[in-house]
Amino acid sequence: MAQKVLIIGASVGGATAAITLRERGVETLMLEKELVKAKPCGGAVPPAAFREFDLPQDLIDRKVKNCLIISPSGQQTSVPVAGSVPGDDDYVAMVRREIFDGFLRERAQQRGAELIQGSLIGLEVARDGVLARYRDPQGVEHDLRADVVIGADGAYSPTAKFLGLPNLPRAVAIQERIALPEAQMARWQDTADLYLGHEVSPDLYAWAFPKRDHIAVGIGAGPQHTQAAKQLLTNLKRRLGPALDGGQLLLREAHALPMEPRKHMAFDRAMLIGDAAGLVAHTSGEGIYWAMKSGQMAAEVLAQHLDVPTAVHLRAYERTWWKRYGTMYQFLRFLQRWGYGNERQMEVFTEMCRNKDVQRLTFDSYMHKQMAPAPWLVQMRMTGDIIVSQARNYLRRRTPLRELQVA
Ligand SMILES: Cc1cc2nc3c(=O)[nH]c(=O)nc-3n(C[C@H](O)[C@H](O)[C@H](O)COP(=O)(O)OP(=O)(O)OC[C@H]3O[C@@H](n4cnc5c(N)ncnc54)[C@H](O)[C@@H]3O)c2cc1C
Repeated sequence: MAQKVLIIGASVGGATAAITLRERGVETLMLEKELVKAKPCGGAVPPAAFREFDLPQDLIDRKVKNCLIISPSGQQTSVPVAGSVPGDDDYVAMVRREIFDGFLRERAQQRGAELIQGSLIGLEVARDGVLARYRDPQGVEHDLRADVVIGADGAYSPTAKFLGLPNLPRAVAIQERIALPEAQMARWQDTADLYLGHEVSPDLYAWAFPKRDHIAVGIGAGPQHTQAAKQLLTNLKRRLGPALDGGQLLLREAHALPMEPRKHMAFDRAMLIGDAAGLVAHTSGEGIYWAMKSGQMAAEVLAQHLDVPTAVHLRAYERTWWKRYGTMYQFLRFLQRWGYGNERQMEVFTEMCRNKDVQRLTFDSYMHKQMAPAPWLVQMRMTGDIIVSQARNYLRRRTPLRELQVA
C-alpha cells in the first residue's frame, strides 16, 4: 500500500523534505499555519545552498562580498568573502524569506506535494500510523492520517512537544527592516556588518544585512538575555547612528532560535528537522542551510525505510548527520563560547579575523559546508596570532565605545 508522509511546517526545512520525498515518488502532505507573514530572519544564505538545491540566482537580493566586523571598542576588521580558491561563487546571498520560502513551497507543490493551511493542535503516533489534528484558518478542526510525520515546525516545535520531548534552550533574535535613501544604502552595497559588544549582543552578535531596498538590523540574545532583546536592538541602532538617518521602519520581527541540538532526531514513525531538531549553527546562528540539508537527509533515509519506519531504521538519519557535520558543530560551539564569551574575547575575535588563514578557513567552511583541513604550518601561524592577540588584550584592556561615549 502507498505510504503517506505528513510534514508539519512548510518553511525552508519542510518544503525541502517535501521536494525530496516527491522526487522519490512518496505521497506527501505539508501542513503550514502561516502562509502570509515571512519567517523572521536575517536571510543570509551560503552559495552551497544554491548549488546543492539548484536554486535560481534571482532569489538573491544582494551578494555580499565583504564582511565588516566591529568590536566593542570600535576596532574594525574587513573580511573579504573568499575561500581558498577565489571564484565567482564566493558570496553570502541575502534573501527575503517571503520570497525564498514561497519559491521552495511552490516547487514542492509543483512536484506533487499537497499543501494544507492549518495549525497542528494534536498528534498521536501509534504502532500502525500517525493521527494529526489541525485547526484551519476558519477555526474548524480536522483530522489527518499518515504513516510517518516529519516535524519541520521550528524552534517551538509543537510536533516535538506532542512527542513528549523537552523544550530546547532558546535564544531570541529580533530585527528591524529599515528602508534607507539610496545614498545611505550605498554604504552597504555589497557589505554586511557584524557588531560585537555587551550592549548589542552579550553572547551572540548583532548585524546589519543589506537587502534589495532596505537594511535589516538585528541582534541575537542567548537564553540568559532574551528579556533585554528590545533594548539591545535600540542600542544597536544608536551605535549605527547617522548611517540610519532618514530611514523608514518597514517591519519589526522576532523569533526564537534553538541553542542545542536534540539528543535524538528520529523516533518510531517520526522525525525532526531544522530548528525543530535544534540544528542551528553556533557562532553564526545560521539555520536556513541546515534546515534544508536536514530536510533532504531525513527524507532520503525515510524513503528507504517507509515500509518499516521504526526508530531503529530512521536513526540512520541522525547517525549520518553527526558523522558528516559533528566536528563542524562542535567547532562552531567552541568558537561561540571562546569568541563571544566576554568583551575582551570579542576584541581578540575581531583581531583574529585579520589573519588571512582564518579568513580563508572561515569562508571555505561557511560557503561550502566543509571543515577545510588546515596544514600544520597554517595552524601554527593562526595559533601564534591568537596568542599575541590574547596577550595584548589581557595586558591592556580596550575601552568599549559606550564607555567612551559616556565619558
Ligand atoms: C531574527 C532571526 C534572524 C535569523 N537570521 C538567519 C540568517 O541570516 N541566516 C540563517 O541561515 N538563519 C537565520 N536564522 C535562523 C533561521 O531563520 C532558522 O534556522 C530557519 O528558518 C529554520 O528553518 P525551519 O524550516 O527548521 O523552521 P522555520 O523556518 O522556523 O519554519 C517552521 C514552520 O513551521 C510552521 N509551524 C509552526 N507551528 C506550526 C503548527 N502548529 N502548525 C503548522 N505549522 C506550524 C511555521 O509557521 C513555519 O513556517 C535567523 C533566525 C531569526 C529568528
